[in-house]
Amino acid sequence: MRLAVQTEINLCKYCLAREGIRARISTSCDLCGGLLGRIGSSAGEIIEKLSEYEYETFLIGVSIPQSVLDQEDELRSRLKIKGKESVKSQITGMLTAKIAKSTGKRPDYSRPDITVLLSLSDGSVSISPRSVWISARYEKSTRGISQRDSKCQTCNGLGCAECDYRGRSGESVESIATAFFTSKFLAESCNFVWLGSEDENSLVQGSGRPFYVEVLRPKKRLSGKTPNKFRSSLSFKSKDIRISKVERLEKRITEVPQFDVRCRVYLSRNEVSQYETQLEEIKRNFTEAIINVRLSRKNRVVHRVIHSISPKQSDRNDLELLIDCEGGIPIKKLITGQDNSVEPNLSNLILGYAIDPEKPFDILDVKTRRPNPNRRVREHPENPVEELSEDA
Ligand SMILES: [Zn+2]
Ligand SMILES: [Zn+2]
Repeated sequence: MRLAVQTEINLCKYCLAREGIRARISTSCDLCGGLLGRIGSSAGEIIEKLSEYEYETFLIGVSIPQSVLDQEDELRSRLKIKGKESVKSQITGMLTAKIAKSTGKRPDYSRPDITVLLSLSDGSVSISPRSVWISARYEKSTRGISQRDSKCQTCNGLGCAECDYRGRSGESVESIATAFFTSKFLAESCNFVWLGSEDENSLVQGSGRPFYVEVLRPKKRLSGKTPNKFRSSLSFKSKDIRISKVERLEKRITEVPQFDVRCRVYLSRNEVSQYETQLEEIKRNFTEAIINVRLSRKNRVVHRVIHSISPKQSDRNDLELLIDCEGGIPIKKLITGQDNSVEPNLSNLILGYAIDPEKPFDILDVKTRRPNPNRRVREHPENPVEELSEDA
């Protein structure tokens, strides 16, 4: 049912159709100001920009100048009509249809690979690809590489010539992995969720330490690759670091799995020490022992289990401790008793010994268990899973 009106208002064919008004089509439009006639060229611009991205699905969002929305409300109330749809849904629908037809990609309204926002006020187009989430493991075969980047001392994180405008300095697992994943996905940057951490002078051996990566603003998604191809094209090896077992996750992680760690601590005896070490005591006290760990900066105490500690006197002055424990225990503090943040600890059982600063402890293996629903990952983590930051 179309409404025939004699009005002095000029409407374009799109606005006439939307309002359900039968009248002569005008080349100028008092309602949209010709905006709808120019949708084709906006679509062309969007298609051009999308051509840089790999995606299967997309979503278009449009912002309309308030004046157009006001004009439409006024016209509808003056003519006492409801119209068939809003100008916003008409434009969104037109753009979606044109882009789908031209690119062969599908619209997806819940979880699109790419979200396009068109502002018809200033004609700007912004493109936001959904992050790609990955799980992987790293091994470290050289001492002296920290897990995370540290702030550049010169600019305090702002970015300067000294740090190549990264705001970060030095080589870390984080910087190596960031460079690798951003180049593979043509992405802007990465966020990390680590399952524990180690000393910068620790090696990470066995199958490596698990971690998760959010690859931000990727131009490539490598979505055509099968899991096997994906894994092999995304493994990395340098003389210091190996990244392996790379898997694509279906979505952002919300639960971090619990994990067990096996590590070896290296202690050496102070020459003047007269103390007896209590190796049997260490074994006895730390078999399936529950210990309290006070989390730094949080003033919260959590319980962790040490499955076993096996001391081995390699010679008169060197002692090695093979520790099997749950993840999330600061190993050095377990040994030294520093700050009393781990209770009980070994400080009274190894009097006269000190951790070797050049070679404090090595991670021999990390095994994940089922996810722990109580350990959530925050939505926009600057330092995700903060509580594990110093822990093994
Ligand atoms: Zn119009
Ligand atoms: Zn700097």
